[in-house]
Amino acid sequence: MFTPTNKLIDLLPYFKNKLGALYPESELENLFYWVCDVKFGLQKFQVKQGDSRLTESELLAVRNIVNRLKKYEPIQYILGETEFYNCKIKVDANTLIPRPETEELVEWVLDHTFNDARILDIGTGSGCIPIALKKSFASLEVSAIDISTTAIATAKESAELNEVNIEFIEMDILDPNVEALKEYDIIVSNPPYVLESDKMNMHHNVLVFEPHLALFVADQNPLLFYKAIAKIGLDILSKSGLLFFEIHENYGTETIEMLRQLGYQNIELRQDMQGKDRMIRCTRV
Ligand code: GLN
Repeated sequence: MFTPTNKLIDLLPYFKNKLGALYPESELENLFYWVCDVKFGLQKFQVKQGDSRLTESELLAVRNIVNRLKKYEPIQYILGETEFYNCKIKVDANTLIPRPETEELVEWVLDHTFNDARILDIGTGSGCIPIALKKSFASLEVSAIDISTTAIATAKESAELNEVNIEFIEMDILDPNVEALKEYDIIVSNPPYVLESDKMNMHHNVLVFEPHLALFVADQNPLLFYKAIAKIGLDILSKSGLLFFEIHENYGTETIEMLRQLGYQNIELRQDMQGKDRMIRCTRV
């Protein structure tokens, strides 16, 4: 067996030995303690104290995790969850892993929320955006749309886990049933925006494990979802309602122009923490 003692702390060298060629040392420690936290409910200092021992089946579970990490499967999928804006969010093959830049978008939306504001997230995926919003500001009335039945099922589990009430609506935003939607004060969306031609520059683990439905658009129509959502916004946003987008870093100018042509005003483009054009906010007049 891979540890003679069954002690959890003795699995750290096992981790490093099996995965050392694939991940940097500092990341390996993070991965190890992340596994300890989620799988065994133990914080780093508790693991380091050294007295926690694992049963045979727990040891096998760790070995299984190591084997999946060897194939570069993201740890979030292996553990079935991640952290987003202080919320525990479930993730699986049907949902993207929430990204830090989307936390910045949530932050920006929260700067503009007010009591009882009605918010709609379009293309919710894991549900990270509506859950983070509702958990931060309990009086909001939050709805979320996705085309994927399975993504909605996962998002509902996360909403329950975070004890927030969100209305989930299954709908294809490219073939929308606008009558089924109410009026909203804020629409937010992080739709698919990665170009098919960007695929060759993407990490293997994103391409192999994350849902392509949530990521990609054809090179010929990079603003497909943005146009559809902005048009719907004209029908369902309240007067002076706000539209927030996460965008592709190379499409800020085009997105602004498209929004201007549709009559949106006060259009503001923001960079993410890496200095890339990443978010847009505008007002329906
Ligand atoms: N930001 C994500 C990525 O780089 C893409 C999210 C999206 O397509 N909406 O993988």
